[in-house]
Amino acid sequence: MLLSHRIRLDPTPEQRDYFARAAGTARRVWNWALAEWNRQLDAGLWPNAMALKKQFNRIKYSDPDWQDTNGQPWLRTIHRDAHAQPFAHLARAWSSYFERRHAGQPAHRPRFKKKGRCRDAFYVANDRFRMDGMAVELPKVGRVALREHLRWPGRIMGASVSRTADHWYLAVQVEVPDNVAHRARRENGITGVDLGVSAAATLSSGDKIPAPRPLAAALRRLRIRSRRQSRKVKAAKRAAGIEGPIPQGTRLPVSKSRTCGARALARLHARIAQVRRDFMHKLTTRLCRENQAVVIEDLHVSGMLANRRLARAIADVGFYEIRRQLQYKAARYGTWIVLADRWYPSSKLCSACGEKYASLALGERTWTCAACGAHHDRDVNAAVNLQRLATGAHVARTALPVASQAVTPGTAAGDGPAGGGKVTSVRHEYGQQDGSGQEEIGEHLCAPSR
Ligand SMILES: [Zn+2]
Repeated sequence: MLLSHRIRLDPTPEQRDYFARAAGTARRVWNWALAEWNRQLDAGLWPNAMALKKQFNRIKYSDPDWQDTNGQPWLRTIHRDAHAQPFAHLARAWSSYFERRHAGQPAHRPRFKKKGRCRDAFYVANDRFRMDGMAVELPKVGRVALREHLRWPGRIMGASVSRTADHWYLAVQVEVPDNVAHRARRENGITGVDLGVSAAATLSSGDKIPAPRPLAAALRRLRIRSRRQSRKVKAAKRAAGIEGPIPQGTRLPVSKSRTCGARALARLHARIAQVRRDFMHKLTTRLCRENQAVVIEDLHVSGMLANRRLARAIADVGFYEIRRQLQYKAARYGTWIVLADRWYPSSKLCSACGEKYASLALGERTWTCAACGAHHDRDVNAAVNLQRLATGAHVARTALPVASQAVTPGTAAGDGPAGGGKVTSVRHEYGQQDGSGQEEIGEHLCAPSR
């Protein structure tokens, strides 16, 4: 099983400098390759990564664009993996774009990466580095100190070095033997999980798991620091005599205090992401360790994020990340993850009698069933309905009619279960290390000045 361990690095100033240049090289090669790809595609050609890489190799030491002020090709100072890998990433981004488009899903072409707005990272192939206890031997920079040992035994498949705020990390992908990767479950429950806003997660047992407390405090500080930062940008704009949006290609003069402010803001964003990730890891481990089946809603996250009032709360809980973690941990614990169809009305069905309360409003935290008189907590009721989806489906493996007969739009009739609850067993995809090369959402979007 392919697992990945992200370890904090302790680089020297020279190593830091190299990392920044290598990441910048990877970004610049991506942009070059993407521009070329777009050009060929629009000219009616069918570009591919191999041909583009060959084309790039022909010019990379001779083209003036790729030489420094002394006329020296600067790619020679950067290890080859950093400028070869973007081609593979780009090819993957294109194929996922075409796949999505064929499937009729919303898709956009791969995008250009912008300094300070994209993930700073570069790749190192497995034969180019060596783990050595609390250090790693990297090409061009030598030994870099690590904050912890590599957690997994097994064959090392590759690594990437990336930056979050002002720290650098090494993510190592390891092919871990199954007997090591597999964990024993402690219990064999079946749990429905309602991911929500008032409590981060509500289990069908009635347990409500609140979002971590430091998050609220950090978010308050985030508002303060963002406000401070935007004032500085405004001041810089005023000094440059710009009204309205900043025209493309303009570089505002960057003051020292703006640089510091940007760094502080980026650090806080990183801390918030860490608190959130820690919480999600604990939650998903607990769910997989204690259950043979876990049911979650296949939420239409981007649709919900469009609802601005809910967006902050939802992005905070990190639905995508919870689902991603559940999926790879499920493989380790042998837990079955069930995704309820996004149209399954888990909140609106009475878990006691199956009656549908169609007019349930978003603000109603509790309600009473008109048919049987049961009094429901909104979230617990939803979690119980989700759990039912698994118990029903679990018995017959083909989903049984569960919960209710109400058919909602968007549900395939026929083989699927009645009640709008389409049950999908989840595919396990290991070691997804942002292979698309696309930007992740939010957390690293930080300093406007970097
Ligand atoms: Zn009822």
